[in-house]
Amino acid sequence: MVQNPPDLRPDRANARLERDLSTVRPERQPTIGMVSLGCPKALVDSERILTRLRAEGYGISADYDGADAVIVNTCGFLDSAKAESLEAIGEALNENGRVIVTGCLGAEPDYVTGAHPTVLAVTGPHQYERVLDAVHAAVPPDPDPFVDLMPASGVKLTPRHYSYLKISEGCNHKCRFCIIPDMRGRLASRPLKAVVREAEKLAESGVRELLVISQDTSAYGTDWSDRPSKAPILDLARELGQIGIWVRMHYVYPYPHVRDLVPMMASGGILPYLDIPFQHAHPDTLRRMARPAAAERTLDEIAAWRAACPEITLRSTFIVGYPGETEDEFQTLLDWLDEAQLDRVGCFQYENVAGARSNALPDHVPDEVKAERWARFMEKAQAISAAKLEARVGRRASVLVDAVDSDGATCRSAAEAPEIDGNIYVDSGFESLSPGDLVEVEIDEASNYDLWATRI
Ligand code: SF4
Repeated sequence: MVQNPPDLRPDRANARLERDLSTVRPERQPTIGMVSLGCPKALVDSERILTRLRAEGYGISADYDGADAVIVNTCGFLDSAKAESLEAIGEALNENGRVIVTGCLGAEPDYVTGAHPTVLAVTGPHQYERVLDAVHAAVPPDPDPFVDLMPASGVKLTPRHYSYLKISEGCNHKCRFCIIPDMRGRLASRPLKAVVREAEKLAESGVRELLVISQDTSAYGTDWSDRPSKAPILDLARELGQIGIWVRMHYVYPYPHVRDLVPMMASGGILPYLDIPFQHAHPDTLRRMARPAAAERTLDEIAAWRAACPEITLRSTFIVGYPGETEDEFQTLLDWLDEAQLDRVGCFQYENVAGARSNALPDHVPDEVKAERWARFMEKAQAISAAKLEARVGRRASVLVDAVDSDGATCRSAAEAPEIDGNIYVDSGFESLSPGDLVEVEIDEASNYDLWATRI
């Protein structure tokens, strides 16, 4: 249980992208650099843009010097993220000089060009074609592109053995603290066949774990006029579960049909892991947030999920210090956490976001109170995490190897999502392991957030 690490907070840069981006530079081809900021959904957008560019024969550069132009995929989720995006654009201009801006902040082109008038182009979120047009104009493609060099799975910015799978865009909710529906529009689900085909291609190319993402995964397909069933996410989960690799669900809202998803987790089709953004537990706070799910019944839902699938891991994120949050409301959240005993928890202190309706709410919580509540929340969350992990000592687990160095192998089981949860470290008998291997271990030590294990 940790606050989301900087590289996965929606308002922070994903620095890992730049690190993982291997230099791919076909001879004589123009080369593009990519700076990708923000959440996993933005990461998927960056992958798609690079996939298209590679398909056209462009090279990909991991540094400013080697790039003929640089794309900055921005985040505009919070004001601090906007500032960070402007800073990243400024750095790319200083270091390279030829910069194309895309992503969430691109929805406000005047804001970008006001600060950086020399950028070559500004395009909004998901405007892949316009990004490509801008690249073509800035650095025309070679007329003989190396189309065949594109790997079947596209260009990957995540390690080769796991991949994000974006199933829809946009959101039909109107949570007051969130401007995503304004920036990304209403829910638009990708066709089921296209998602499954992409998942199969990823599996064929060596991906061992799919991380299903969207703004609202449970709502997948509910925007179709001719939907094949009431809850197409169940159809999708069933099909993905047959591919034979790990499938992990993120951003699932606790709608009633999630109860039908959980038995698929119990039977091994998809991983017994649910990432559900509860955000708060007090009904009044949730009402002021305009959240889609009521708190009173979430404890019942959690009990039902655990009854159907005892090994399920539950992760969630919360906001403390939301406008109007009283000490009583906050205490309700702490009490709820005691009862819910979630396995993994992230927590943010509320922050105003330009354009969010929550800015206008009365009774904003002073910063020092927010910080104090955050510390109390994390103290409780840490104690729950430590006890939960201690209870796993002595148990066996199948783990996926993420990385191997001279000290050992960094692995994860079904209970740990990459980047946001803890790890399982194997520090003996790891020499023959490689990233992507699936091995059996026995857990022999626990800390607050991580585990240590021995191969069996
Ligand atoms: S469900 Fe709420 S927080 Fe999530 S994207 Fe939609 S409006 Fe934003």
